[in-house]
Amino acid sequence: MKKPYVSAGRINLIGEHLDYNGGWVLPTTIDLGITLWVKNHSDHFVFYSDKHEPFGCSIFEDFPNEQGWFQYPLSVIRYLKLQKIDIPQGFELNYHSNLPEGSGLSSSAAILVVTLKAFNEILNLNWSSLDIALIAQKIENQYIGVNCGIMDSYVIAHNEWDYALLIDCQKLKHEKIPFSIGEKYKILILDTQLPRSLKHSAYNQRRSSCEQALQIIQKHRNIQNLAEAHISDLDFFTNIELVQRARHVITEQERVKKSVESLKNKDFISFGKLMNASHESLKKDYEVSCEQLDFLVENIQKQKGCLGARMTGAGFGGCAIALIDDNFDMDYLSQLERLYYKNFSIQPKIFIGKERCFS
Ligand code: ADP
Ligand code: MG
Repeated sequence: MKKPYVSAGRINLIGEHLDYNGGWVLPTTIDLGITLWVKNHSDHFVFYSDKHEPFGCSIFEDFPNEQGWFQYPLSVIRYLKLQKIDIPQGFELNYHSNLPEGSGLSSSAAILVVTLKAFNEILNLNWSSLDIALIAQKIENQYIGVNCGIMDSYVIAHNEWDYALLIDCQKLKHEKIPFSIGEKYKILILDTQLPRSLKHSAYNQRRSSCEQALQIIQKHRNIQNLAEAHISDLDFFTNIELVQRARHVITEQERVKKSVESLKNKDFISFGKLMNASHESLKKDYEVSCEQLDFLVENIQKQKGCLGARMTGAGFGGCAIALIDDNFDMDYLSQLERLYYKNFSIQPKIFIGKERCFS
């Protein structure tokens, strides 16, 4: 056991629900993440995680199909076997994490990426960060059964803490946008603590609405992805719900472009306003927010020193993020937690998501 492998969680600063629409997204990694220690073991695979039951299995046995956290590392092994990559018979994988699970901070991509990173190095596989991102997405789609896009594994695999990555999800390229928030700014994460599962949410419905919207536009114009559409393309629609869904995608793509300009100019005030507008669009047009997310976002937006706030991730629960500066009164956060509890009888978790380097 020489050194641990590390993968951070992620937040998407702006550009929500654009990855599967071939658009541009702007995520960054956070201060919380998963650390993996790898040890030799005689003849079995053993997986430990500080929050879960251990799991053991032999490479020669049929792997179990029942649900459980162990399916994430096990799927990596399945993938390696399928690729006919020579795997040693025994390994101990030991995960430690301070990254909340199931909150929309992409712990699923983080556990896959950290495992792939470890095997990449141990088995000299020469995978690039992009290879790791693509394999993690494939595993989550095909083995875990979650129809996720490329954004999460992409930003986690590239792990550029001082930057947000402007990812073109169609061309699979990125530009590094400086995001050293330094002394003055912090990103807060406001976790609704609502039970949420992508598989059981309306995520797949939104994807299929976007496919329908694209097909309507393609009857008139030659575009490949909904994110390439123009606001005037909405004139082709008769279905109001599809108008709303497509309008979110089109306006959100514009907000991503403006955010990049703002961040390049270190204009955090304009960027904060774009975050607020993004939330409004996700709430009213894309309809993936919920009253708990709105409560946290709308209350924190009113506070002095809060430059902007929005839900992040797929929605229907999960987390919101807020950009704050040094005028923000941190004591307000316990008041907000109490207010939230009074309204929803759920204890939320509010914490600093980004202020220092995760290592
Ligand atoms: P999210 O990606 O938003 O955190 P998901 O539902 O996609 O939520 O993934 C969460 C699942 O990933 C957990 O239920 C667990 O099975 C697995 N997981 C994530 N982190 C860990 C960890 N540190 N140890 C074990 N399993 C983990
Ligand atoms: Mg996930």
